[in-house]
Amino acid sequence: MRRDASQRKPNASQEADQMETVHTIAEARARLNAARSQGAVVGLVPTMGFLHDGHVSLMTAAAADCDVVMTTIFVNPLQFAEGEDLGDYPRDLERDSHWCEEAGVALLLVPPVDEMYPNPVATQVDVDQIAAPLDGISRPTHFAGVATVVAKLFNIAGPCRAYFGEKDWQQLQVITRMASDLSFPVDVIGCPIVREDDGVAMSSRNVYLEGDYRVAARVLSRTLRAAVDAIAAGETAAGAIIDLMTARFAAEPLADLDYAAVVDASTMLAVDPIADNVRLLVAAQLGPARLIDNCDAHSDRGLPTR
Ligand code: AMP
Repeated sequence: MRRDASQRKPNASQEADQMETVHTIAEARARLNAARSQGAVVGLVPTMGFLHDGHVSLMTAAAADCDVVMTTIFVNPLQFAEGEDLGDYPRDLERDSHWCEEAGVALLLVPPVDEMYPNPVATQVDVDQIAAPLDGISRPTHFAGVATVVAKLFNIAGPCRAYFGEKDWQQLQVITRMASDLSFPVDVIGCPIVREDDGVAMSSRNVYLEGDYRVAARVLSRTLRAAVDAIAAGETAAGAIIDLMTARFAAEPLADLDYAAVVDASTMLAVDPIADNVRLLVAAQLGPARLIDNCDAHSDRGLPTR
Protein backbone atom coordinates (compact mmCIF):
# COMPACT_ATOMS: atom_id res chain seq x y z
CA MET A 1 0.00 0.00 0.00
CA ARG A 2 2.79 2.42 0.80
CA ARG A 3 4.13 4.17 -2.30
CA ASP A 4 7.84 4.56 -2.69
CA ALA A 5 9.41 7.75 -3.93
CA SER A 6 9.59 6.52 -7.54
CA GLN A 7 5.78 6.14 -7.63
CA ARG A 8 5.18 9.66 -6.42
CA LYS A 9 3.31 12.09 -8.59
CA PRO A 10 5.92 14.27 -10.28
CA ASN A 11 5.59 17.95 -9.49
CA ALA A 12 6.95 21.02 -11.15
CA SER A 13 9.59 21.83 -8.59
CA GLN A 14 10.43 18.29 -7.42
CA GLU A 15 10.51 19.84 -3.95
CA ALA A 16 8.82 16.79 -2.45
CA ASP A 17 11.87 14.58 -2.97
CA GLN A 18 13.65 15.68 0.20
CA MET A 19 11.33 16.00 3.18
CA GLU A 20 11.89 19.05 5.34
CA THR A 21 10.98 19.08 9.04
CA VAL A 22 10.01 22.39 10.61
CA HIS A 23 8.90 23.34 14.11
CA THR A 24 7.36 26.78 13.66
CA ILE A 25 4.16 28.08 12.12
CA ALA A 26 6.09 30.77 10.24
CA GLU A 27 8.35 28.24 8.52
CA ALA A 28 5.41 26.05 7.50
CA ARG A 29 3.45 29.02 6.16
CA ALA A 30 6.40 30.39 4.22
CA ARG A 31 7.13 27.03 2.65
CA LEU A 32 3.52 26.37 1.60
CA ASN A 33 2.92 29.93 0.39
CA ALA A 34 6.02 29.64 -1.79
CA ALA A 35 4.78 26.34 -3.22
CA ARG A 36 1.32 27.78 -3.90
CA SER A 37 2.83 30.80 -5.62
CA GLN A 38 4.39 28.32 -8.07
CA GLY A 39 0.95 26.84 -8.71
CA ALA A 40 1.25 23.85 -6.38
CA VAL A 41 -1.82 22.22 -4.86
CA VAL A 42 -1.19 21.70 -1.14
CA GLY A 43 -2.29 18.60 0.77
CA LEU A 44 -2.57 18.56 4.57
CA VAL A 45 -2.57 15.48 6.82
CA PRO A 46 -2.98 16.33 10.52
CA THR A 47 -1.93 13.58 12.95
CA MET A 48 -0.86 13.02 16.52
CA GLY A 49 2.02 10.81 15.38
CA PHE A 50 2.96 7.23 16.31
CA LEU A 51 1.98 6.56 12.74
CA HIS A 52 0.48 3.36 11.37
CA ASP A 53 -0.81 2.29 7.96
CA GLY A 54 -4.06 4.22 8.55
CA HIS A 55 -2.06 7.45 8.66
CA VAL A 56 0.08 6.29 5.74
CA SER A 57 -3.07 5.79 3.64
CA LEU A 58 -3.98 9.46 4.19
CA MET A 59 -0.49 10.63 3.22
CA THR A 60 -0.46 8.36 0.18
CA ALA A 61 -3.84 9.71 -0.94
CA ALA A 62 -2.63 13.27 -0.42
CA ALA A 63 0.59 12.62 -2.33
CA ALA A 64 -1.38 11.15 -5.22
CA ASP A 65 -3.71 14.17 -5.43
CA CYS A 66 -1.50 17.11 -4.48
CA ASP A 67 1.85 18.62 -5.43
CA VAL A 68 3.10 19.33 -1.92
CA VAL A 69 1.96 17.45 1.19
CA MET A 70 2.39 18.70 4.74
CA THR A 71 1.89 16.25 7.57
CA THR A 72 1.63 17.60 11.08
CA ILE A 73 2.49 15.70 14.23
CA PHE A 74 1.08 17.37 17.30
CA VAL A 75 -0.33 15.69 20.40
CA ASN A 76 -2.92 18.34 21.08
CA PRO A 77 -3.40 18.88 24.83
CA LEU A 78 -6.66 20.71 24.20
CA GLN A 79 -8.45 17.55 23.08
CA PHE A 80 -7.48 15.48 26.13
CA ALA A 81 -9.48 15.76 29.33
CA GLU A 82 -8.00 15.45 32.81
CA GLY A 83 -7.28 11.77 33.49
CA GLU A 84 -6.98 10.85 29.80
CA ASP A 85 -3.75 9.59 28.23
CA LEU A 86 -2.06 12.86 27.20
CA GLY A 87 1.12 12.08 29.17
CA ASP A 88 1.26 8.45 28.05
CA TYR A 89 0.33 9.02 24.41
CA PRO A 90 2.86 6.98 22.38
CA ARG A 91 5.51 8.87 20.41
CA ASP A 92 8.26 7.86 17.96
CA LEU A 93 9.30 10.84 15.88
CA GLU A 94 12.23 9.12 14.20
CA ARG A 95 10.12 6.29 12.82
CA ASP A 96 7.28 8.68 11.96
CA SER A 97 9.63 10.93 9.96
CA HIS A 98 10.84 7.96 7.97
CA TRP A 99 7.28 6.84 7.17
CA CYS A 100 6.25 10.36 6.15
CA GLU A 101 9.17 10.67 3.77
CA GLU A 102 8.44 7.25 2.27
CA ALA A 103 4.80 8.21 1.74
CA GLY A 104 5.74 11.28 -0.29
CA VAL A 105 5.40 14.00 2.34
CA ALA A 106 7.34 17.18 1.49
CA LEU A 107 6.99 19.03 4.77
CA LEU A 108 6.64 17.72 8.31
CA LEU A 109 5.46 20.24 10.90
CA VAL A 110 6.19 19.20 14.49
CA PRO A 111 5.33 22.23 16.59
CA PRO A 112 6.01 22.36 20.32
CA VAL A 113 2.97 23.05 22.50
CA ASP A 114 3.97 26.68 23.18
CA GLU A 115 4.24 27.31 19.43
CA MET A 116 0.61 26.24 18.95
CA TYR A 117 -0.65 27.74 22.20
CA PRO A 118 1.60 30.66 23.16
CA ASN A 119 -1.20 32.09 25.32
CA PRO A 120 -3.79 30.45 27.54
CA VAL A 121 -6.50 29.40 25.10
CA ALA A 122 -9.31 31.97 25.03
CA THR A 123 -10.83 31.11 21.64
CA GLN A 124 -12.26 27.72 20.81
CA VAL A 125 -14.35 26.35 17.96
CA ASP A 126 -17.50 24.55 19.02
CA VAL A 127 -19.43 22.64 16.36
CA ASP A 128 -22.07 22.02 18.94
CA GLN A 129 -24.82 19.89 17.43
CA ILE A 130 -22.59 17.41 15.63
CA ALA A 131 -20.10 17.29 18.49
CA ALA A 132 -22.67 16.85 21.26
CA PRO A 133 -23.82 13.19 21.00
CA LEU A 134 -21.82 9.93 21.14
CA ASP A 135 -18.16 10.73 21.88
CA GLY A 136 -19.28 14.22 22.85
CA ILE A 137 -21.15 12.75 25.83
CA SER A 138 -18.23 10.67 27.12
CA ARG A 139 -15.62 13.30 26.20
CA PRO A 140 -17.43 16.64 26.54
CA THR A 141 -14.41 18.85 25.79
CA HIS A 142 -12.83 16.64 23.14
CA PHE A 143 -14.32 17.94 19.89
CA ALA A 144 -13.85 21.60 20.78
CA GLY A 145 -10.17 20.75 21.27
CA VAL A 146 -10.06 18.93 17.93
CA ALA A 147 -11.97 21.62 16.01
CA THR A 148 -9.79 24.35 17.50
CA VAL A 149 -6.48 22.73 16.61
CA VAL A 150 -7.72 21.77 13.13
CA ALA A 151 -8.90 25.36 12.58
CA LYS A 152 -5.41 26.52 13.52
CA LEU A 153 -3.82 23.97 11.17
CA PHE A 154 -6.13 25.09 8.35
CA ASN A 155 -5.06 28.68 8.95
CA ILE A 156 -1.41 27.63 8.98
CA ALA A 157 -1.69 25.51 5.83
CA GLY A 158 -3.83 27.96 3.85
CA PRO A 159 -5.89 26.85 0.84
CA CYS A 160 -5.47 23.10 0.59
CA ARG A 161 -6.99 19.65 0.46
CA ALA A 162 -7.06 18.12 3.95
CA TYR A 163 -7.21 14.36 4.52
CA PHE A 164 -8.90 12.72 7.50
CA GLY A 165 -9.76 9.11 8.31
CA GLU A 166 -13.29 7.72 8.41
CA LYS A 167 -12.10 5.81 11.46
CA ASP A 168 -12.96 8.95 13.45
CA TRP A 169 -16.32 9.39 11.73
CA GLN A 170 -17.84 11.90 14.13
CA GLN A 171 -14.60 13.92 14.03
CA LEU A 172 -14.75 13.92 10.22
CA GLN A 173 -18.31 15.31 10.33
CA VAL A 174 -17.31 17.94 12.90
CA ILE A 175 -14.40 19.09 10.74
CA THR A 176 -16.38 19.02 7.48
CA ARG A 177 -19.09 21.16 9.06
CA MET A 178 -16.59 23.53 10.65
CA ALA A 179 -14.81 24.07 7.31
CA SER A 180 -18.14 24.86 5.69
CA ASP A 181 -19.54 27.05 8.49
CA LEU A 182 -16.35 29.11 8.80
CA SER A 183 -15.59 29.26 5.03
CA PHE A 184 -12.14 27.75 5.28
CA PRO A 185 -10.58 27.46 1.80
CA VAL A 186 -10.07 23.76 2.45
CA ASP A 187 -11.52 20.65 0.80
CA VAL A 188 -12.02 18.10 3.56
CA ILE A 189 -11.51 14.58 2.23
CA GLY A 190 -12.47 11.42 4.12
CA CYS A 191 -10.42 8.26 3.58
CA PRO A 192 -11.49 4.65 4.31
CA ILE A 193 -10.64 2.88 7.56
CA VAL A 194 -7.47 0.77 7.44
CA ARG A 195 -7.73 -2.41 9.51
CA GLU A 196 -5.43 -5.06 10.90
CA ASP A 197 -5.75 -8.54 9.32
CA ASP A 198 -8.28 -9.59 11.96
CA GLY A 199 -10.51 -6.58 11.29
CA VAL A 200 -9.45 -4.39 14.23
CA ALA A 201 -9.26 -0.75 13.07
CA MET A 202 -5.69 0.51 13.23
CA SER A 203 -5.14 3.03 16.00
CA SER A 204 -2.11 4.45 17.77
CA ARG A 205 -3.87 3.43 20.99
CA ASN A 206 -3.87 -0.27 19.99
CA VAL A 207 -0.38 -0.32 21.50
CA TYR A 208 -2.09 -0.22 24.92
CA LEU A 209 -3.84 -3.55 24.18
CA GLU A 210 -2.06 -6.57 25.56
CA GLY A 211 -2.91 -10.27 25.32
CA ASP A 212 -6.58 -10.99 25.83
CA TYR A 213 -7.56 -7.35 25.37
CA ARG A 214 -6.07 -7.32 21.87
CA VAL A 215 -8.13 -10.43 21.00
CA ALA A 216 -11.23 -8.93 22.60
CA ALA A 217 -10.80 -5.78 20.48
CA ARG A 218 -12.20 -7.77 17.57
CA VAL A 219 -15.64 -7.36 19.12
CA LEU A 220 -15.98 -3.86 17.64
CA SER A 221 -15.59 -4.73 13.96
CA ARG A 222 -17.35 -8.09 14.35
CA THR A 223 -20.33 -6.42 15.95
CA LEU A 224 -20.51 -3.94 13.06
CA ARG A 225 -20.34 -6.82 10.63
CA ALA A 226 -23.20 -8.65 12.38
CA ALA A 227 -25.28 -5.46 12.31
CA VAL A 228 -24.63 -4.86 8.60
CA ASP A 229 -25.55 -8.48 7.86
CA ALA A 230 -28.83 -8.09 9.76
CA ILE A 231 -29.63 -4.89 7.83
CA ALA A 232 -28.76 -6.61 4.54
CA ALA A 233 -31.14 -9.42 5.55
CA GLY A 234 -33.98 -6.89 5.85
CA GLU A 235 -33.90 -5.45 9.38
CA THR A 236 -34.80 -1.75 9.27
CA ALA A 237 -35.59 -1.02 12.94
CA ALA A 238 -32.77 0.94 14.57
CA GLY A 239 -33.77 -0.40 18.00
CA ALA A 240 -33.32 -4.00 16.86
CA ILE A 241 -29.85 -3.23 15.48
CA ILE A 242 -28.84 -1.42 18.67
CA ASP A 243 -30.08 -4.41 20.71
CA LEU A 244 -28.11 -6.76 18.49
CA MET A 245 -24.92 -4.73 18.87
CA THR A 246 -25.41 -4.37 22.64
CA ALA A 247 -25.86 -8.13 22.99
CA ARG A 248 -22.62 -8.80 21.09
CA PHE A 249 -20.73 -6.59 23.52
CA ALA A 250 -22.46 -8.17 26.51
CA ALA A 251 -20.93 -11.48 25.39
CA GLU A 252 -17.40 -10.02 25.57
CA PRO A 253 -16.52 -9.52 29.24
CA LEU A 254 -13.29 -7.60 28.53
CA ALA A 255 -15.13 -4.88 26.60
CA ASP A 256 -17.14 -2.23 28.40
CA LEU A 257 -19.54 -0.75 25.83
CA ASP A 258 -19.85 3.04 25.83
CA TYR A 259 -22.32 3.31 22.95
CA ALA A 260 -23.70 1.38 20.01
CA ALA A 261 -25.51 3.86 17.79
CA VAL A 262 -27.48 4.11 14.56
CA VAL A 263 -27.28 7.69 13.30
CA ASP A 264 -27.59 9.94 10.29
CA ALA A 265 -24.10 9.84 8.77
CA SER A 266 -23.81 13.65 8.54
CA THR A 267 -25.75 15.05 11.50
CA MET A 268 -24.97 12.30 14.03
CA LEU A 269 -28.64 12.33 15.10
CA ALA A 270 -30.37 9.04 15.87
CA VAL A 271 -32.45 7.69 12.98
CA ASP A 272 -35.21 5.12 12.79
CA PRO A 273 -35.98 3.31 10.53
CA ILE A 274 -32.67 2.68 8.81
CA ALA A 275 -32.74 4.26 5.35
CA ASP A 276 -29.92 5.79 3.28
CA ASN A 277 -26.93 7.71 4.63
CA VAL A 278 -26.93 5.87 7.96
CA ARG A 279 -23.81 5.11 9.97
CA LEU A 280 -23.34 2.50 12.69
CA LEU A 281 -20.89 3.54 15.41
CA VAL A 282 -19.50 1.77 18.46
CA ALA A 283 -17.19 2.83 21.28
CA ALA A 284 -15.90 0.68 24.12
CA GLN A 285 -13.31 0.65 26.86
CA LEU A 286 -11.00 -2.38 26.74
CA GLY A 287 -8.84 -2.18 29.84
CA PRO A 288 -6.53 0.77 29.28
CA ALA A 289 -7.73 1.61 25.75
CA ARG A 290 -10.86 3.37 24.58
CA LEU A 291 -11.59 2.13 21.06
CA ILE A 292 -14.03 3.35 18.41
CA ASP A 293 -15.17 1.93 15.10
CA ASN A 294 -17.92 2.54 12.56
CA CYS A 295 -19.29 1.58 9.17
CA ASP A 296 -21.91 2.41 6.57
CA ALA A 297 -25.14 0.65 7.54
CA HIS A 298 -25.37 -0.79 4.02
CA SER A 299 -21.77 -1.81 3.33
CA ASP A 300 -19.55 -4.54 4.75
CA ARG A 301 -16.51 -3.07 2.98
CA GLY A 302 -13.41 -3.85 4.99
CA LEU A 303 -15.28 -5.56 7.81
CA PRO A 304 -14.23 -9.06 8.88
CA THR A 305 -16.35 -12.09 8.03
CA ARG A 306 -16.88 -12.83 11.77
P1 AMP B 1 -4.63 10.54 15.04
O1 AMP B 1 -3.15 10.52 14.90
O2 AMP B 1 -5.18 9.36 15.78
O3 AMP B 1 -5.17 11.86 15.51
O4 AMP B 1 -5.20 10.36 13.56
C1 AMP B 1 -4.80 11.22 12.52
C2 AMP B 1 -5.66 10.94 11.32
O5 AMP B 1 -5.51 9.58 10.93
C3 AMP B 1 -7.15 11.17 11.58
O6 AMP B 1 -7.73 11.77 10.43
C4 AMP B 1 -7.66 9.76 11.77
O7 AMP B 1 -9.02 9.60 11.45
C5 AMP B 1 -6.79 9.00 10.79
N1 AMP B 1 -6.77 7.57 11.13
C6 AMP B 1 -6.46 7.03 12.33
N2 AMP B 1 -6.60 5.69 12.28
C7 AMP B 1 -7.00 5.38 11.02
C8 AMP B 1 -7.33 4.16 10.35
N3 AMP B 1 -7.27 2.98 10.97
N4 AMP B 1 -7.70 4.23 9.06
C9 AMP B 1 -7.79 5.43 8.42
N5 AMP B 1 -7.49 6.61 9.00
C10 AMP B 1 -7.10 6.59 10.28
